[in-house]
Amino acid sequence: MNGLNNGNLKLAIQKEGRLTGETLDFLWKSGLEFEASKQKLFSNCRNFPIEILYLRDNDIPKYVEEGIVDLGIIGQNLLYEKRPQVKKLLNLRFGFCSLVIAVPDDSPIKKIQDLKYSKIATSYPLSSKKFFKERNIQVELVEISGSAEISPALGVAQAIVDLSSTGSTLLLNELRMVEKVYDSEAVFIANKQLFTQRKKQFLEKLLLRFKGVLSAKNYKYVMMNAPENILPEIKKIVPGLKSPTIAPLVKVGWISIQTVIKEDIFWETIEKLKKIGASGIIVLPIEKIIT
Ligand code: ATP
Ligand code: MG
Repeated sequence: MNGLNNGNLKLAIQKEGRLTGETLDFLWKSGLEFEASKQKLFSNCRNFPIEILYLRDNDIPKYVEEGIVDLGIIGQNLLYEKRPQVKKLLNLRFGFCSLVIAVPDDSPIKKIQDLKYSKIATSYPLSSKKFFKERNIQVELVEISGSAEISPALGVAQAIVDLSSTGSTLLLNELRMVEKVYDSEAVFIANKQLFTQRKKQFLEKLLLRFKGVLSAKNYKYVMMNAPENILPEIKKIVPGLKSPTIAPLVKVGWISIQTVIKEDIFWETIEKLKKIGASGIIVLPIEKIIT
């Protein structure tokens, strides 16, 4: 095995947890070739001057701030909670979750004002403190390092502030959400100064790859047939990334159109296209978009 090469970029990712799988997928999709294994502390990359380091997610903000590593992928929630002096470069569109306030199902607490003077268990003390302070609600925060959802049952607290994505952990522990503190997703962060000229140059290349993967995820490639005379209408419905590719069909007066549609307005757009007379609509995923 090769050792760490000091001239290379160092990217810290979560060693084992909720972000690990999707982070690795994202890096592989970006064309970085490396093997991940649970036993390893870091991986060398075959085709890019970067080393991937596997760390506890809580440690990553500090390591990036201090320049022990150059780059990191963590949840935005850790930026809100720890407020490290780092640069956020990109939202990565996975690892979605929210920090929420929850109470036992049978609790009399209905709204956050009812939490006045109560004990609240959390591993997000700063985010919680800020939230209640801004609303002028006095609470007693009990700081714990994990498994907050069990503390009401243990009698340690009347409520918790914890991360939740689908709400299934809350449900399982007979808790219900009272209010959301904030939303979070995975983010790509960098040390503020760092960077030799070489590292700067390769960070630019890495960003281009990451953005390519991200925009591909947001778009679908669409092919359809339509009568030629509705083309102006189609152009209005599909603003597109660029102007559509148009080819004549054997069927007189008909054309084939190829374009790119944004994921978030995808169904709306398809319905509109069908309604005005497009047919034979084929949708394909896009691997990368480089503009
Ligand atoms: P580590 O051992 O690395 O300290 P951890 O227990 O602190 O792990 P995980 O529970 O694996 O962390 O969560 C890592 C990140 O995943 C969170 O900080 C958050 O950004 C994100 N995440 C996504 N969905 C959820 C969820 N349902 N619950 C908790 N975190 C989530
Ligand atoms: Mg952690």
